[in-house]
Amino acid sequence: MSPLVTPPFAPRGGTADDDALPELFATTELGLTPDDYAELLASKRGNDERIAVHVRLPFCPSRCLNCDHHTTVTHNSEAIDEYIVDLEREISMVTDRIGRGRTLTQLHLGGGTPNYLSDTQLVQLMDVIDRHFHLDSDTEASLEANPKRCSPSQLTLLRGLGFGTLDLQIRDRDSAVQLAIGRSHSLSVLEDVIGSARSEGFETISMDLVYGLPNQSVETVHGTVKHMIGLNPDRIMCQTFSPRPSVFKHQRALDAEGLPSLADKVAMFNTASETLMDSGYEWVGLDCFAREHDALARAKHAGHLHRNWVGYTDRDTGDLYGFGADAITQLREANVQNKVQLGEWHEALHQGELPLCTGERISESEQRQLAALNTLLCNLELSDYGDLLEDSTLLKELAKQGFVEISDDKVSVTEYGRFALHQRWSDASPHYRATRGMALAS
Ligand code: SF4
Repeated sequence: MSPLVTPPFAPRGGTADDDALPELFATTELGLTPDDYAELLASKRGNDERIAVHVRLPFCPSRCLNCDHHTTVTHNSEAIDEYIVDLEREISMVTDRIGRGRTLTQLHLGGGTPNYLSDTQLVQLMDVIDRHFHLDSDTEASLEANPKRCSPSQLTLLRGLGFGTLDLQIRDRDSAVQLAIGRSHSLSVLEDVIGSARSEGFETISMDLVYGLPNQSVETVHGTVKHMIGLNPDRIMCQTFSPRPSVFKHQRALDAEGLPSLADKVAMFNTASETLMDSGYEWVGLDCFAREHDALARAKHAGHLHRNWVGYTDRDTGDLYGFGADAITQLREANVQNKVQLGEWHEALHQGELPLCTGERISESEQRQLAALNTLLCNLELSDYGDLLEDSTLLKELAKQGFVEISDDKVSVTEYGRFALHQRWSDASPHYRATRGMALAS
């Protein structure tokens, strides 16, 4: 049985405070203008390395009270049509510089709720992507989906469009928890969706467990995990929730008294991890659990698990380009965040500008440090670190706080770090993660 780890921090609710975030995750100063970014993109022309693409689709039919994404609740299909038109503008502006037809390692549609798009809109979007990028049999194409909106015909369409991985957004199956956050799923719908997805040939079914929600307890998390295991997904992601009501006003409607403390959350994670491993799931990286046959579990054993802004991958995906409002672009030399507000994102594109709101350059020394840290955080061990420690205040700080230990020949994530580290990253605001610690915090 895994030891219960009690962190030495956290008020009830574990509310994240953007101003109190640890300097631990600071890497560089901001400083990438739109012109700098355009120049950097142009420098990548003629490069035939494979790349990854993440498209943000910030539309939902209703708002979950725990939501910590910048998304728009709309029932106006024209707003989504206009968004797809401007997505093409943005994609063209980038591919005009880096070159059209670049082959993708990874394509991910994130939300919002990507499967809120109509069948026609999904086809239009994939047409845009196909005209600007090349997808082949090695491209991992995935999308996030609300199971309540997955019809058999939509799954047939998505599979036909080339998607092989379905990320079902579950959160929790307990009715009191669902009521508290304004979501609902029935077991029979989930069973139907998974059955249809399997028979359509989706290779990977992934689910998310969110812990730290109102009304959750160790017992409800245990029940949810058992329920998920019964559905036999290939992967289960465990994500911690920390409210940020100053940024996301709707979170003020959450019952603050019902929010678990951080110590409660760590106990929930202990229960989830133990239950999953007892049922044959492998603990991959910090917060992912996968069946033995799954690509991520195999990558873990082969020592080549990777991680980018989208999540874990079984290979190095190369530069990740994000498109859409609030999308993140993660290049070797720079991190960029797009304008967050939908109106501002549209406006920049209509003025012919790349729609970034913040960006930072990453020096060669920082690139080495980030690559090493990603190796450490995916594979839990970093050997041959050479002179890296001399430059890395981050690694030293991680060691000081007990997340890692450093010996003569390797750096290893401690047992405490394995349970507590991702809680700290997830507590960083998305903006903070985007601009300061994104390569670590996604
Ligand atoms: S589905 Fe996701 S993006 Fe949409 S409101 Fe709920 S949490 Fe937010």
